[in-house]
Amino acid sequence: MRRSAWIFLAAILLPSLALAWMAVRSARDQQVIVEHQQAIICQDITDALAKRIQDQVENSRSTFVQTTDQLLEKSPSTQLLAMNFNRKLRNAWDLAEVGFAVDLRGLIYSPGPNDGLIARTFRDDNARFLSNRENVEVFAQRPSKAPKILSQAFDLQADAGQEQSAKDPNQPPSQQAVQQGQFPAQKVQIERQVVPQSNFGQSTASNTLPEESDFRKVIGTETSGTLARFLEDKLRIMVWYRPHDGSVVYGAQILQSRLADSFRPLLQSPDIKKNDTAISSGVEYSLAILDDRGKPIALSRPGFAADWKHPFAATEIGEALPHWEAALYPTDPKQLHRSAATLQLVLGLIVAVLVAAILLGGWLMASDVRRQMRLAKQQTDFVSNVSHELKTPLTAIRMFADMLSEGRVEERERQNKYLRIISAESARLTRLINNVLDFARMERGAPSPERRPCDLVEIVREVVSTCQPHLDAANVTLSLEIDAQELPVTGDPDALAQIILNLISNAEKYGGHEAVVRVSQQNGFGCVEVLDRGTGIPPKKKEVIFQPFHRLDDSLASGVTGSGLGLTLARRTAQAHGGNVTYSPRPGGGSCFTLTLPLSVPVKTQ
Ligand code: ADP
Repeated sequence: MRRSAWIFLAAILLPSLALAWMAVRSARDQQVIVEHQQAIICQDITDALAKRIQDQVENSRSTFVQTTDQLLEKSPSTQLLAMNFNRKLRNAWDLAEVGFAVDLRGLIYSPGPNDGLIARTFRDDNARFLSNRENVEVFAQRPSKAPKILSQAFDLQADAGQEQSAKDPNQPPSQQAVQQGQFPAQKVQIERQVVPQSNFGQSTASNTLPEESDFRKVIGTETSGTLARFLEDKLRIMVWYRPHDGSVVYGAQILQSRLADSFRPLLQSPDIKKNDTAISSGVEYSLAILDDRGKPIALSRPGFAADWKHPFAATEIGEALPHWEAALYPTDPKQLHRSAATLQLVLGLIVAVLVAAILLGGWLMASDVRRQMRLAKQQTDFVSNVSHELKTPLTAIRMFADMLSEGRVEERERQNKYLRIISAESARLTRLINNVLDFARMERGAPSPERRPCDLVEIVREVVSTCQPHLDAANVTLSLEIDAQELPVTGDPDALAQIILNLISNAEKYGGHEAVVRVSQQNGFGCVEVLDRGTGIPPKKKEVIFQPFHRLDDSLASGVTGSGLGLTLARRTAQAHGGNVTYSPRPGGGSCFTLTLPLSVPVKTQ
């Protein structure tokens, strides 16, 4: 048994558990791969949206250049346009909040001090920067997208012979300069507005870093560009343009609310939408454009709300709109966790069911092996018990027959006694052989002999009278109590007699010196009770004794012979006749075996 347990453990349980573990791991890896793939797709969407926004800013810059060229064409002189640029531009271009004109020496032509409150504030905020008297942190972008601020700034400084802060050792170096190896790397890090989940725990430092510069350095040798700067934590976006033939630079501070309005249609553009729905995991997403404070200024689904700081994927829009983000959110954030949790639950259930099935199979196997072993032992016991039971009566028969045939016993009474013993032992042999043959017949499933109407009372009387000599020889007193005149049943009288014989034989073997056979009629059933004053049956064993070959005590140890088939046959035969044989403890000690058989004709109690 222990060996089978080891084989089960090594050949079935451990490999199955290892397989289940590998399945769980591979499913989890699959999930991670799917999430990464999804993150890549989502990142592509936000990258595309960021690019569209950059293009939109670029378009605005182009429109500004065109508008300025038109104004220049219409204007009688450059000087005149420069003086009135704020007013003229605001009339001609709806994105302009303030228009400005400044020459490279730093002389500001427009807006004038009397152009209104916004213009005055603009002058206060930007005059020193525009007239190159102050270096400020700016994010600059040129159409070529080559960030040349410092390299050109150095050229300009060299040309102008001016003291510029870029050469000031106290000023921080630009990223470009650091990349070019001009400065030792410095850890300047600005955190992004958002922490995208698709980063999978990687850094969220912003790629858009400001440069220290004045206006002239920003312009360099370019003809137009955009620049952004933070003033008291508020972002200001400007476009500028220097016509080829002039020394005046025209510019505008952009009205951000209008610029934001121009982004909204981008979220509905078919290619972005198409990508949005291309994500195949069944999770729905929404796009948002976040401003420099991380607040949404445009949404692909109106009314959609989310934890804006934690998108699934996001892309920085870049220098044109520093700290702005194109972000993508799952429409139902719990859906992501739900699909992961569902997968884990399904896997867990599959593994649990597998393990339970393996354990159940193991347990069934083990109990079957145990049953087979018990059966094998019982059959071995049966062979030795039957041999023993055959030998005992045969020895007695042979001994007494020899004594009689050799004429060694002369008294008539002793001769009769020995003859009775020979007859009783032959009856015992017959009963044993009948039991074995009946059992074999039943196991084979052979048809039972034909049934006919018979009287149970008569059968009992006959069996008791047959047993009497044997009981007398064994010194067992048997009393017969009959409460019915006749009990008509339909059946095989020999088989029914064998049941009663087996029960009386057991009472003789295990029941002490006193036995009672009681015959009665109860609720349409004929009852034969065989009672004794023996040890009785322990409650736990009261059903087991009806199983084939089952004996409570070993024949050799107890000295009582038996095959373990008597009760099995008694019950099976009774059940085949529509009745049963049951055990109950006898009040006052001992056993009570009851045979019940359905009566073929109802009878009255006596
Ligand atoms: P056996 O040939 O061993 O008597 P049975 O099927 O007739 O086989 O009985 C099965 C077992 O039930 C017996 O071995 C015995 O232990 C127990 N048993 C049967 N009848 C009695 C009884 N009247 N009193 C006590 N134990 C009994």
